Amino acid sequence: MANSNVEPLYNQIFINNTFVNSVSGKKFPTFNPANKKKITDVAEGDKADIDLAVNAAKAAFQPDSEWRTMDASVRGQLMYKLAELIDEHKNDLAYLESLDCGKPLRDSVSDIRSSVSVLKYYAGYADKIHGKTIPSDGPYVSFTKLQPIGIVGQIIPWNYPILMMSWKLGPALATGCTIVLKPAEQTSLTALYIAALSKEVGFPDGVVNVIPGYGITVGQAISSHPDINKVAFTGSTEVGKLIMAEAAKSNLKRVSLELGGKSPLVIFDDFDVDEAVKIAHDALFPNMGQSCCSGTRTFVQEGIYNEFVKKAAKLASEKKVGDQFDPDTTIWPLVDEKQYNKVLSLIESGIKEGAKVEAGGSKVGDTGYFVYPTVFSNVTDDMRIAKEEIFGPVQQIIKFKTLDEVIKRANNTNYGLAAGVLTKDLSIALKYMENVNAGSMWINCYNAITPQNPFGGFNQSGFGRELGEAGLHNYLEIKTVSIKK
Ligand code: NAD
Repeated sequence: MANSNVEPLYNQIFINNTFVNSVSGKKFPTFNPANKKKITDVAEGDKADIDLAVNAAKAAFQPDSEWRTMDASVRGQLMYKLAELIDEHKNDLAYLESLDCGKPLRDSVSDIRSSVSVLKYYAGYADKIHGKTIPSDGPYVSFTKLQPIGIVGQIIPWNYPILMMSWKLGPALATGCTIVLKPAEQTSLTALYIAALSKEVGFPDGVVNVIPGYGITVGQAISSHPDINKVAFTGSTEVGKLIMAEAAKSNLKRVSLELGGKSPLVIFDDFDVDEAVKIAHDALFPNMGQSCCSGTRTFVQEGIYNEFVKKAAKLASEKKVGDQFDPDTTIWPLVDEKQYNKVLSLIESGIKEGAKVEAGGSKVGDTGYFVYPTVFSNVTDDMRIAKEEIFGPVQQIIKFKTLDEVIKRANNTNYGLAAGVLTKDLSIALKYMENVNAGSMWINCYNAITPQNPFGGFNQSGFGRELGEAGLHNYLEIKTVSIKK
């Protein structure tokens, strides 16, 4: 599958269906996290480039533009074609994705398959977005019309670059918006590749614009721009708050935020231990723990706690270090030095605060940003590793006794993105489901994320939902029309 001849084909800014250099002429490097070597330089956007992109997106959104007058069904067909073209290019895209963010090729291919499904799901919606007729009081015939919100800014992270792009493009294109998207600075290459594919399938000029660069410049220019009608963001809670403040200060643009998590997975002692160990492992370690909905607080009932810890540690230890192009790798690098240092310092804090390392607990050499999958036992709720989002391969195994106690402890967090429960007792599962605050609730499974299921957070994990029919509403305004009889 690895195709080491694929060059990073696209490393400029994409505005109006054209690749251009940044206004400043500046560039920034992007690195392979497995060996810290530079892959290429990418054009570095800034406010001036966002202004150009917003002008292009505004022109594409004019009432008589090709995009605004296109049949919704044709819009859906373009989206479907884009999905198919991404699928056709999946080997090259997967190679670039893996090179840039460090994940194994097989995972990049799987992310691309999911992205194709998301785009096809939303392609089907393009001509099925409609309002209601309303039996209003008075001499009126009333109905609602769902209109595209307009020019949307989209800021995405580095953990699932292609997948996060599809979650953003899908509903925005289906509803007929025009887009100014900023990829994470660590992972711009596949976003630019997909921009090129969007031109190839025939999206009109200015509908899709991709501006690489840093958060403090490009991201800030998006969230504060007076002519952007909505900003959709995925990333840290800290930056989510900044974006919301900028949106409020500028033009009250609509905001949807998909932020961090510290999700609980609660395992009752009536559940098969071996299966629970496997589900808990897979709730956390894929993507080296760099997932917002990772089940990082593994609560295990006291009757099976010791056996669970032993087996979880064994499973985490049976892994092989390798770069993203080694087909057998099960330990690959974290995305960059900042993330690597953050994860190592949180592991250090766990050790200092008295948690017991059952597996891993350290870095792997110095060639790249590799960290051994780490399992902690004897974790208490007040430790930093039980409270803060680590975003790395670090499992906290926490003991509990009763359902009522664990519901309180599961909710003892600022977050609320996802939660899981493993039990054969339906009444336990239902009480947990009713009372734990999380946007996604997984019973006897974890990470059941599909294009049809809405995904998003309670509390400081954000608001607005992506995926499913709910995902469309982030990109729509309701216009109520009343006609006098
Ligand atoms: P981040 O929130 O800083 O970056 C995410 C995106 O926001 C990137 O595109 C970045 O350029 C942009 N950004 C940064 N500052 C901005 C600003 N002031 N205005 C507008 N956009 C801005 O995340 P990070 O620093 O890359 O990672 C830090 C932590 O965030 C991680 O350790 C993890 O806990 C969390 N995170 C969560 C997710 C998620 O899926 N929810 C994804 C990535 C990171």
